[in-house]
Amino acid sequence: MTLQYRAAVLHTAQTPLSVETVTAAKLKPTDVLVRVRAAGLCHTDLEVIEGSLRYPTPIVLGHEAAGVVEQVGPAARGVKVGDHVVLSWNPHCGQCFYCDRDLPILCEEYLGAGPKARAFDGESRAALADGRELGQLMFMGAFAEYCIVTDQQAIPVSKQIPFDRACLIGCGVMTGVGAALNLGAIAHGDTVMVVGCGAVGLAAVQGARLAGAGAIIAVDLDPAKLALALRIGATLGVDASKDDVVAAAKRQAGGRGVDVVIESAGSASAFRVTTEAVRPGGQVIWLGKINVNKDVSFRWGSLMQEKRIRRVSYGNARPRRDFPLLARAYLDGALMLDELISRRITLEQINDGFDALKRGETIRSVIAFD
Ligand SMILES: [Zn+2]
Ligand SMILES: [Zn+2]
Repeated sequence: MTLQYRAAVLHTAQTPLSVETVTAAKLKPTDVLVRVRAAGLCHTDLEVIEGSLRYPTPIVLGHEAAGVVEQVGPAARGVKVGDHVVLSWNPHCGQCFYCDRDLPILCEEYLGAGPKARAFDGESRAALADGRELGQLMFMGAFAEYCIVTDQQAIPVSKQIPFDRACLIGCGVMTGVGAALNLGAIAHGDTVMVVGCGAVGLAAVQGARLAGAGAIIAVDLDPAKLALALRIGATLGVDASKDDVVAAAKRQAGGRGVDVVIESAGSASAFRVTTEAVRPGGQVIWLGKINVNKDVSFRWGSLMQEKRIRRVSYGNARPRRDFPLLARAYLDGALMLDELISRRITLEQINDGFDALKRGETIRSVIAFD
């Protein structure tokens, strides 16, 4: 029996997504069929829609999702039918140069296969009604009622966490909390500055809190986002449209600059501010991204004095370890996720959701499937 389901398809960049009925391929041995219950709208999806990040089309976007396992292939490991899962977008081979060096995010197979927008084995797992093969972003394609992923990507979590909150763990929350917790950058009592308070920045604020930061300075241009940052753990909000961010950093940290700066704004000016605001010997962590062909300028003096700069994707995630812990932290009240959801929408409202994200009106819109 072939499975048919509704999916939001991007046929061409810079055109709206079209919700249509598509057909799933047969499960391969290590495949997992997930009934998607919630999926978050992330900036990376928007970049693909706008064409600044290029992928072959037609394609189903969506890479921040949670759902229920409906079927597993005979060789799938670590997951079973009925499990509630959060999906990881970083499957990796486990045996290449970078996997051997404990950098799954740089896995050569992952980076080689990713741009093709197929499943991790390079083949399509869904087709349009006319039979054309359908791509899936980040081996996932979660803006759909179902998606087929490889077993590594389907991470069981507690059944108590609601799907709309669980899905956030799969990208934005992992990226922000992981940057603060998984690199060992923040020592107890440190002063931490987070530049940019979207979903990732608000997660980083919480990661800094969980890491035991003494003071957390949130920086944004939007007073509403700053207010939210203060609610979830920031101790000071700095409005970069009015205040001098570097002066505020120095003022809060004995004139030296802050111990750790986490950037999650994705602008050249934000990158520049990070190296000015950090103290000598302090640590800068960049999470945001801009066009890869663009230059960023720094004052040379701001890069000196033993400062350490790291660029991190996906919060140095080890999903099988981290996702269940983050779900548990939510259930224990230590990690606030309800606050990150601005809107719950249907699959049919997905284009409005991306318009709102583009206008900066939302932290996260989450598609909630019935
Ligand atoms: Zn994302
Ligand atoms: Zn590898």
